[in-house]
Amino acid sequence: MRVGTGYDVHRLTEGRKLILGGVEIPHTMGLMGHSDADVAVHAIMDALLGAAALGDIGKHFPDTDEAYRGISSLKLLEQVGRLLEQEGYLVENIDATIVAQEPKLRPFIPQMEKNVARTLHLSENQVNIKATTEEGLGFTGSRQGIAAQAVCALTGLYEASMTAFDSERNCSGCGGCAKG
Ligand code: MG
Repeated sequence: MRVGTGYDVHRLTEGRKLILGGVEIPHTMGLMGHSDADVAVHAIMDALLGAAALGDIGKHFPDTDEAYRGISSLKLLEQVGRLLEQEGYLVENIDATIVAQEPKLRPFIPQMEKNVARTLHLSENQVNIKATTEEGLGFTGSRQGIAAQAVCALTGLYEASMTAFDSERNCSGCGGCAKG
């Protein structure tokens, strides 16, 4: 198993939509950025790329590239998913936390989880998104920005096949495969 972490921050500003987890959230401000500035999806992508030792989103989607101006970050996530597939990695699970003083994000979280799961062809129980505030402290507390953190676990296909091979040799019958 391989794990990765991701962290991202975007500044809040007037005159931009607030997109988190691919959901447009009604709010007086939105996040500044080259793409749609979906800080949650950015942290998730960095966790996935990190676990696969494939660098980070800045390397794959530079913000100097006009192709990515205003793009939905779910489209970028789809590309990260394809990259992982090419490299022979399966996503085990993703867990992310969005840190925002406002607005209340809970009502939107199920749709965010659905968006991420669907984009990566995962089940919904492989994706968890949480939201918290920092109790009015720091830059999220003063509503200057929104931060997000994510972790994920990947299995390499090679690693998965070796585990299957081992369990065939030394199987004690755990019920986890046909032999059990
Ligand atoms: Mg970002």
